[in-house]
Amino acid sequence: MSKIRGQKTKPELVVRKFLFSKGFRYRINDERYPGKPDIILHKYHTAIFVHGCFWHGHESCKAAALPKTNTDFWKEKIENNILRDRKDVELLKNKGWNVIIIWNCEINTQKKREERFARLVEEITQIGT
Ligand SMILES: [Zn+2]
Repeated sequence: MSKIRGQKTKPELVVRKFLFSKGFRYRINDERYPGKPDIILHKYHTAIFVHGCFWHGHESCKAAALPKTNTDFWKEKIENNILRDRKDVELLKNKGWNVIIIWNCEINTQKKREERFARLVEEITQIGT
């Protein structure tokens, strides 16, 4: 977890900067929406969550491996996070929002980031039309 905390640029900031540079305008951490999405794109009716792999329990991801000590404690904690995330996504979808989740491991190198961001633009613009 020290890796997560020690990160210089928060992943959600990286995503925001990218979207802004592409001309997208958004709101951040809007509390009126379930789960307080990292990014809300009103024009595209899209909510984006940028998830840390550990805290949000990214499935079959190396970065989401549970610590060897206090494993049960972490397991329960992360499982609760997963359930809460799922509920938030469902609530948003029920209200007609498109939901995109970006995992930290998808954007933690320059190369992966470029690929993910290219896909992201497609996802936003396709579902927005
Ligand atoms: Zn991951």
